[in-house]
Amino acid sequence: MTARPALPSLVGQPLIVGAGLAGVMTALSTTRPCVLLCAGRLDEIRPPHAASWLAQGGLAAAVGVDDTPALHAADTLAAGAGLCDPDIVRRVTDDGPAVVGRLAGLGVAWDRNPDGSLQRGLEAAHARRRIVHAGEDATGAVIMRALAARVRRTPRITVIEHAHARDLVLHDGAVAGLRAVIAGTQVTMPATAIVLATGGVGGLFADTTNPAGATGSGLAIAARAGAVLGNMEFVQFHPTALSAGADGQRLCLVSEAVRGEGATLIDETGARFTEELATRDTVSRAVWRHMMAGHTVYLDARKAIGAAFTQHFPAISALCAAHGIDPLTQPIPVRPAAHYHMGGVVVDPAGRTGVPGLWASGEVACTGLHGANRLASNSLLEAVSFGTWIGQALDGHDRPVRPVPGLAAPGLQWTQPPVGLRRLMSRYAGVIRSGAELEAGLAQVLAQPESDARLVCAAIMHAALLRTESRGGHFRSDYPHVAPTAHASRLTLADIAHLSAQMDTPVATTPP
Ligand SMILES: Cc1cc2nc3c(=O)[nH]c(=O)nc-3n(C[C@H](O)[C@H](O)[C@H](O)COP(=O)(O)OP(=O)(O)OC[C@H]3O[C@@H](n4cnc5c(N)ncnc54)[C@H](O)[C@@H]3O)c2cc1C
Repeated sequence: MTARPALPSLVGQPLIVGAGLAGVMTALSTTRPCVLLCAGRLDEIRPPHAASWLAQGGLAAAVGVDDTPALHAADTLAAGAGLCDPDIVRRVTDDGPAVVGRLAGLGVAWDRNPDGSLQRGLEAAHARRRIVHAGEDATGAVIMRALAARVRRTPRITVIEHAHARDLVLHDGAVAGLRAVIAGTQVTMPATAIVLATGGVGGLFADTTNPAGATGSGLAIAARAGAVLGNMEFVQFHPTALSAGADGQRLCLVSEAVRGEGATLIDETGARFTEELATRDTVSRAVWRHMMAGHTVYLDARKAIGAAFTQHFPAISALCAAHGIDPLTQPIPVRPAAHYHMGGVVVDPAGRTGVPGLWASGEVACTGLHGANRLASNSLLEAVSFGTWIGQALDGHDRPVRPVPGLAAPGLQWTQPPVGLRRLMSRYAGVIRSGAELEAGLAQVLAQPESDARLVCAAIMHAALLRTESRGGHFRSDYPHVAPTAHASRLTLADIAHLSAQMDTPVATTPP
């Protein structure tokens, strides 16, 4: 494979890596010509390259007459278990109603009542009905289809499909370019402004609702450039992934909105065993413990929703039908799965990382909104708010580009994390963790061949080992209580290398 220079006409334009909601909103919100790197096809849902296409429940915003951004902020802070940044929470929840309007202006047709008001769903730990949705339970696909069409009609945005970013080029510690693999060819693109919008880490787990591309590669790229990773241990496990399909395959999600409409969690005896609308981490642990005690867990929508299920949840109905399950007459088998990463690249309120010229947007970022646990449906909101603010900030970013050396790293490719590594993560860094298991799992992770996935898995496990308490999405059976004081966790590449070396296994500081 040879290194190829980037198209000369694109040199110096901001590069946005990842074409989910955060990346697309960033591209639409700057007025500058920019380049959007997309891992798959921009406007195709199958196979899903971005989690944004899969979002079901909707987007949280205080749009009801019975609601206020302050109430939304209070629920967000409560879910975040002491680790949210209250200023960021206020700023994002204040922006919620405007985000709904902004997306409508970009062509998103929200579901509305006959009087034109927005339909509002309820999800766990929200004190009000404030989840706006589109296409009933196909919110992500409706939003992404509208925004992708808008991108296609915006000539200043150059979309490069089948593109995988691999590493940054730095000059004097600042961003000078990007190394990427585009349709199998290595490319070096000079740029002084790069936005990582690469999504989450669910693809590092065997049981996950995330698409295969959610492998945390943006975290590895940022860490190698010197950015700080925050709250890496906080992974949210969704309690109700559809427990069907081949081993290692992405699990389909059965949205919390189904429980919001009254569906109950039962076991094979028909007995309920938990409070369905408690926070996600609480419900996930209850389901996990019940499974570990030998039970099979189901979500029962027969009585509470009944015949209305197909109308309200057409996408979930179709997913169930594909697995031979009829939610009108049968309870839906479910199990917990890695769903959302609260941790990420630490950014300031403007979305800037500590590396000059590098921003992080959406799930890859650690903004302070989610703290230890994301409140349901706050992530689409965050992706739009920060995507907008970062896009606007790009307008004011003006640093001359300089030539960057071509690629000299043979074999720089993008590969899926091996299923063995994903099984290790689900087994040792899953819903309920312990120090002994994390240590055993980490030793096995570090014994794997060098890769971005291995680096990010190691960071998650190190951070989980260091946090000797249980808080939000992170639960340690050997430290089951919340520590009296809350602290955010921070890791650099040097920290990860140092901690790994103590286990006799160094971590590479260059891309494998
Ligand atoms: C099944 C499911 C249902 C959900 N439902 C909801 C919901 O109802 N409400 C809500 O608020 N949130 C929901 N979420 C979470 C939400 O969808 C995500 O947090 C959000 O969409 C993330 O947007 P993003 O743009 O940051 O990442 P993504 O949408 O995942 O996009 C990231 C993109 O970057 C690409 N990429 C990764 N690495 C590279 C690289 N190195 N080079 C180039 N491209 C790269 C990925 O392939 C992907 O295309 C759900 C998530 C899932 C999985």
